[in-house]
Amino acid sequence: MYSFKDKTVLVTGGSRGIGKAICEKFAKLGANVVINYVKSIEAANETAKQLMDSGSEVLVVQADISKFNESKNLVEKAIERFGKIDILINNSGITKDNLMLRMSEEDFDQVIDVNLKGTWNMCKNLTRHFLKNKSGSIINITSVVGLTGNPGQSNYVASKAGIIGLTKTLAKEFGSRNIRVNAVAPGFIETEMTEMLSDDIKDLYKKQIPLNKLGKTIDVANACAFLASSEAEYISGQVISVNGGMV
Ligand code: NAP
Repeated sequence: MYSFKDKTVLVTGGSRGIGKAICEKFAKLGANVVINYVKSIEAANETAKQLMDSGSEVLVVQADISKFNESKNLVEKAIERFGKIDILINNSGITKDNLMLRMSEEDFDQVIDVNLKGTWNMCKNLTRHFLKNKSGSIINITSVVGLTGNPGQSNYVASKAGIIGLTKTLAKEFGSRNIRVNAVAPGFIETEMTEMLSDDIKDLYKKQIPLNKLGKTIDVANACAFLASSEAEYISGQVISVNGGMV
């Protein structure tokens, strides 16, 4: 098993859900962890306490990643504390679902701002540091629907498909500088985001999944850890699906 000893990972939206599982996974493998959140201070502090109780070095930073300067401040605070960042996981994401005919312009803009612009902001603010360090790994969390499309999610799907394009482009722009950029596309994973779905809808989803079960947050975290590890040192510009065989 690989180790992230002496490495620092910055996880946006690390307070809960998939982001929390990613923080736990990297901490368990020896990394220092920077946990970003925007609203859930209690959840972020609780995650931090849990990791620190297990002996990890942790920094919690509040920042709305859709705001360029807040994202810049997040990166600066992380570097100030740990001296360097080795791995960036762009995990923060929101949904505001509706069929396009009923979707407001505001709901479209907000989802694009957090999911796509937020990811771009973080990459933009961290790549200079990666260039200086002559290495870095970026993992962007997209979604299965970014590959397939999904009715009722024109804002979310556009943001997630955009993240795939961004990932492939940055992999080409920075590959020669030893910076790898990959994406992980989860399918249906049990989190607060999916908790609001009815059992009927969950059963309907399960029928579309060859492995016949929803995924767990750790399944996504495992893929992130592999992609960030030296075992994936020749992998860049790729989208790894974690969806039980759905797509
Ligand atoms: P979640 O439980 O709703 O957590 C979302 C996280 O994003 C929270 O930590 C939240 O922080 C953070 N966040 C939201 N807006 C932010 C902002 N403006 N700035 C900084 N952080 C912000 O979501 P999840 O289910 O774990 O999903 C995590 C990622 O996986 C998302 O990108 C999502 O699109 C993707 N995904 C999820 C599934 C699934 O089935 N769950 C499937 C495919 C893809 P606060 O706690 O402070 O609000």
